Amino acid sequence: MARVVVVGSGNAALCAAIAAAEHGAEVTILEAGSESDFGGNSRYTAGAMRFAYAGPDAILGLLAGSDDERIGISDFGAYPKTQFAEDLRSFSSGLPLNALQNLLVDESYATVAWLSDVGVGFEPIFARQSFLKNGRYRFWGGLTLATAGEGEGLVQAERRIAEALGCALRLEHVVTELLLDGHRVSGVRCQSDEALQADAVVLACGGFEANAELRSRHLGANWRHAKVRGTPLNTGQGIEMATTIGAATAGQYGACHAVCMDVSTPNFGASTIAHSERKNFRKISYVFGVMLNRNGVRFVDEGADFRNYTYAQYGKAVLDQPGAVAWQIFDGQVEKLLYEEYRRDHATRYRGGSLEELIAMLPGIDRRTALQTMEDYNRAAVGDGFDPTIKDGCETQGLDLPKSNWALPLRTPPFLAFEVTGGITFTYGGLAASTDGEVLDDRGEPIDGLFAAGEIVGGIFFDGYPGGSGLTAGAVMGRRAGRSAASSVM
Ligand SMILES: Cc1cc2nc3c(=O)[nH]c(=O)nc-3n(C[C@H](O)[C@H](O)[C@H](O)COP(=O)(O)OP(=O)(O)OC[C@H]3O[C@@H](n4cnc5c(N)ncnc54)[C@H](O)[C@@H]3O)c2cc1C
Repeated sequence: MARVVVVGSGNAALCAAIAAAEHGAEVTILEAGSESDFGGNSRYTAGAMRFAYAGPDAILGLLAGSDDERIGISDFGAYPKTQFAEDLRSFSSGLPLNALQNLLVDESYATVAWLSDVGVGFEPIFARQSFLKNGRYRFWGGLTLATAGEGEGLVQAERRIAEALGCALRLEHVVTELLLDGHRVSGVRCQSDEALQADAVVLACGGFEANAELRSRHLGANWRHAKVRGTPLNTGQGIEMATTIGAATAGQYGACHAVCMDVSTPNFGASTIAHSERKNFRKISYVFGVMLNRNGVRFVDEGADFRNYTYAQYGKAVLDQPGAVAWQIFDGQVEKLLYEEYRRDHATRYRGGSLEELIAMLPGIDRRTALQTMEDYNRAAVGDGFDPTIKDGCETQGLDLPKSNWALPLRTPPFLAFEVTGGITFTYGGLAASTDGEVLDDRGEPIDGLFAAGEIVGGIFFDGYPGGSGLTAGAVMGRRAGRSAASSVM
């Protein structure tokens, strides 16, 4: 029986552990953190998972047993593989999809179905991915289901499944070194100096987003002080351990997933804030308003696409602004469309009876320019054909920086502003890996006994990210890596 050590306890690690155990391995999962850190970034997620599906039946198959009456009045549409591939391609610097990206597309549905089969529940994302139109829930943006109980539900379900298959979870085991027997990885050493022998090791211990030094080296100096949306423990240790023994790196080290976050967001995912509450610091309903920086000017096309396709890039855009802050401005007409997170007590919110009154409240903004920008925007926003369920083409006329969809004029009191900054979610650069989850060396050859999955793998996301792809990528690669690790005994 192969002995497999899995490093990390997030979604990728747990998928690897489950797959390895299904293929007969004796699995030990080593997690650096304590019980409150268990599950890594995966635990902080909304559990949204993007996958290709041919039509509503594919969705209904994953919802069997649900008694949610809204399912009967929902239009789930379809999200063909070609569309998922196109969505990835649009963020890949014009390059054709590579083998890992094709694998993500091709195995996305089968992997979600596997998770469902082993006991992970799914539910439609009614609140964030659908709009009620003519009495039916109409889903948009190719992102339709989330795991039951969001990220917390996902990792706890995976933990139960893994433990039922005999996997042993050891918390507070910080892995610091890969052991070698000749050229083959033969186990790991922990910070405590404990060594564990193994036939194969799966690294699923995240990227380097929580390491200020590495952020500033690879992403740029202004990233040193970025808020970290998730765990403080993803410091790039796994990447370092692997490269020390000759692993190659892959992907775009200078790019990452970053989101508009309330300025009051704590620097890290803090254990004092419930995981379920933590995600409510994000502020991503900007598609219905405009964003101004301290100079009082707009800096992105807020309506360039569904927010699924822009939110992971606009955190960086905000960090690049003076003071690394911006204000999202809305009016009474669109207030009802804002996500629930905008109504939270912690939201840094300003409310005025007129645009002049609102802008006068915003600390440090160039008021004259800000008001002029709003007046110019309102003149340019014709507002015909507004429809949040589609890319409605309701665009501004004559602005140098257009708003391409959902451009309603903001003229209805009360006027609202939310102060945001950029928060990093995860990094895109990582280890080079094969489609079987093998870690590759500089010659492109697998390093015997070493596998990887999840955020630690580079080369899947480049200039941007279609929302909900991270968990799916971790599950697809985790399942592959676990299976390969279990079968890799010499
Ligand atoms: C707030 C937030 C919301 C998100 N929402 C979504 C979403 O809805 N859908 C989606 O697809 N993606 C989402 N993401 C992205 C998603 O979290 C990641 O793509 C995915 O969880 C990565 O999984 P992973 O298993 O690779 O890493 P993680 O889940 O981060 O797990 C890595 C684990 O490794 C451990 N570790 C690190 N170093 C060591 C070491 N040296 N020794 C032992 N253990 C170590 C860490 O403690 C951690 O538990 C979100 C991320 C955040 C932060």
